[in-house]
Amino acid sequence: MSIAKIKKIKSGEVIVECVNKQDVEKLKTIVDTSQDLKSKEIIKGNPRIILQNIDKNLDKTNLIETICKNNRDLVESCGGMDQFHKQVKEKFRLGGRDKDKCVSVILDVTSEARKEFLKRRIISEWESVYAKDYISLVQCFKCYRFGHKSDKCKESTQICGKCGHTGHDFKNCKSNDTKCIVCARANEKGCKIDHVARDKKCPTMLKIKEKISKSIDYGQ
Ligand SMILES: [Zn+2]
Ligand SMILES: [Zn+2]
Ligand SMILES: [Zn+2]
Repeated sequence: MSIAKIKKIKSGEVIVECVNKQDVEKLKTIVDTSQDLKSKEIIKGNPRIILQNIDKNLDKTNLIETICKNNRDLVESCGGMDQFHKQVKEKFRLGGRDKDKCVSVILDVTSEARKEFLKRRIISEWESVYAKDYISLVQCFKCYRFGHKSDKCKESTQICGKCGHTGHDFKNCKSNDTKCIVCARANEKGCKIDHVARDKKCPTMLKIKEKISKSIDYGQ
């Protein structure tokens, strides 16, 4: 049996990452039949992928049907039609670049289906798109913390997403400073803070995303 990773946590418990499901079962049996140890399985969440520029007129059912019809090799690689439907589920949609015509669709997929999606161009109706990994991280545009939106914000004053000062918002910023409040708060040594707080490459935000991705089952 091969072990991918072992980690001790504060409570005295040990997290063991196995290479495959069979090894998880084996390890569980060994641990549970021993007298002193107890096991608990940690189930990771399914990955999510995003398909951009999807025709808005394709509803949930039609989109999956269209993908099935036009991407036979993808369906076959997932183990056929029934398996495909079990492994691929639409989660939600976001407005696309051209809001009147297109949407971005977020799919909940198994680690196996994700690999197949990322391998090839996905043909929707007439166009083809590339699937990309999707990790959602909500950012509040009042305090610029993560995990809530501004309507649920507990901060009393608006913080500027450009200069990091309080009392005005991003749009009304007249400061010449650019200081990311997210990185300034994290206060990590050597971290650059001369970017806006919504920057898609903000190092602190990327670190949080990386942490989230560890709780997702990407398979082997
Ligand atoms: Zn907030
Ligand atoms: Zn400002
Ligand atoms: Zn930052």
